[in-house]
Parts: sequence; structure tokens; C-alpha cells
Amino acid sequence: MPDPLDTAATILRAGGLVGMPTETVYGLAADATNAEAVLGIFIAKGRPTFDPLIVHVADPEGAWAVAESTPRARLLAAACWPGPLTLVLRRRATIPDVVTSGLETVGVRCPDHPVARELIRRAGRPLAAPSANPFGFISPTTAAHVRDQLGDRVGAILDGGPCAIGIESTVLLVDPQPVILRPGGLTRERLEEILGEPVAVANAQARAASIALPAPGLLASHYAPRTPLRLLDEHEPWPTDPRIGRLALCGPVPAGGPTELLSQSGDLAEAARTLFASLRRLDASGATDLVARLVPAIGLGLGINDRLRRAAGLG
Ligand code: AMP
Ligand code: MG
Repeated sequence: MPDPLDTAATILRAGGLVGMPTETVYGLAADATNAEAVLGIFIAKGRPTFDPLIVHVADPEGAWAVAESTPRARLLAAACWPGPLTLVLRRRATIPDVVTSGLETVGVRCPDHPVARELIRRAGRPLAAPSANPFGFISPTTAAHVRDQLGDRVGAILDGGPCAIGIESTVLLVDPQPVILRPGGLTRERLEEILGEPVAVANAQARAASIALPAPGLLASHYAPRTPLRLLDEHEPWPTDPRIGRLALCGPVPAGGPTELLSQSGDLAEAARTLFASLRRLDASGATDLVARLVPAIGLGLGINDRLRRAAGLG
């Protein structure tokens, strides 16, 4: 039996697509230096080409081959990689326009998953990879999620188990001032601790302006179930209509329709890990409508709330 990692690396070198486990969510990977291969990602996902992709590398040296390093970038790479932090830096010419949607910057990160890093090494090139789901839909956190939705469009899917973080990486514009463009698996608090300076979080308008193009990863409706989802107001009681699915961080939630609790103990890391699979279960439950309550806006709560807002079609 050939090693699945070797098979996947061969597919990537030939310009094909591979479902790749990472610690955040499963990625749909292609050779980041091959424009035609990268275009295949956009086609398989139905993703508009003005939404830039993240380039995955095996180590910081790999990152500086595709992006220009700066003192802040080197500090963050040393402290946070491998890990769920994407650095937006000036790009080098090795990366074709289709990866960055023509931007002069590129998002780059080193994933904290042994299968992902070994795949990058064996492919011998950086890998462009967005989440491995149809555009706008809930991100995949298991190999089965990828198989169900994109199985017929990829050359191979590597199973690396369920994702340990469960939401996408934090996307950070590094210079001239650090700004979180998308909250995610690495907290703002941790970034401020490492950098020893304040880190801003861009609002929807500033995010769009910072990349000068509309980027649906940043647009209102994304990460969305097919069943309409609404966020409850802070003091609004839980609906008890059995047709309405409910999603909460933890209980108590009164008896009623299908209910997903993200973490019995209210732990935000566990909640991030279970979020997307819980949304998928509610979507498949037969509920006519879904409601969710935001979680505390600290630590990983920022990233969880961002996904919930956008799943509900809010910015
Ligand atoms: P995804 O690959 O679906 O997790 O989303 C990647 C997201 O990263 C995009 O939707 C953008 O929000 C962000 N991103 C990637 N590259 C850049 C860049 N060069 N500048 C700003 N944001 C970026
Ligand atoms: Mg995505």
C-alpha cells in the first residue's frame, strides 16, 4: 500500500487538490505556486476569486520565502507557530495573483498539525488552502465533513482526526500596526502579551477597507447553515417550540426543540472545538429555524461570536 501522504503529495505536485487536516479546520489544499491548481480550489468551492487564500508553510523559513518578514512578524512566528495565526505581510513574486486576489500582501501560516506539515514538506512547496467546504457553508472539522461535501472534487482526503481548535485561524495585519482582520483560534489577549502593545480588532468596514476589495470571508453571510439562524437578544428567553433548534454555550436551556450545548462547563476552547459540528447537527435535525446565543466576548469567544454572527447573516 502506498503511503497516503506520498500519494497526496504527488497529487499536489501534479496540480490536484487534497483535503488536508489542520488544527483549525480541514483545508482544501493546492500548490500555492501553481496558478492553475489554485484556480481549481475556487472552482471546487464555488468561491469568488476576489477572496484571498491563506498560504500554508512548514516553518518560518518557508513563510519568508513567500512573504517579506518584519521584526514583528518574526517575533510572532517564533512565539505562535506552528499555530492558529495567519500573518498578512507583503508578498514575494513566488505567489501568483490568484492566491492573493491581486493584493500586494499574502496571508501565511504554519499549521499545528503533523499531517499538514509533513504534507507541505513532501509536496516540497507552500500550499494554498481555504476551508474545505462549499463557499459560504459551515467549515469542516472532520474528514467525513470534507468527504460528504467535496469528496467528488478532490484527488485525496487525508484523515487527521477531529480538529483540535475547531475555528479558523486569527488573521492579523502585522504592519504598520497590528490589527486583527478576522478573530479566530489565537486570542487577542495572547497577541498583546507577545507583542507588548495593543492589538486592534477591525470592524467590518475597516476590514473591507484594509484589503481594498470585498472579501466574503469578511462579508456578512458565511459559515452558514442552510436552516435560517437568528441570534437571540441578550435577555430574550429561549423559544420552546419543538420545531426551533437551539444553540448555547451551556445550560440551562428549557425543554423544547433540538438543542446543542457547546460546552457543559462553559469552556470556550471546548466550545470552539464543537461549534461547527453542532451547527451541522442542528442543520440536519429537521428544525425549521435555529436560534443561538452569543458567548462571552473574551478569549476565543471573539472568534466564536464572529462565526455565529456571520452564520446568522450579520456582519
Ligand atoms: P479562509 O481561507 O476561508 O479561512 O479565509 C481566508 C481569509 O483570510 C480571507 O477571507 C481574508 O479574510 C483573509 N486573508 C487572506 N489573505 C489576506 C490578505 N492578503 N489580506 C487580508 N486578508 C486576507
Ligand atoms: Mg472558509
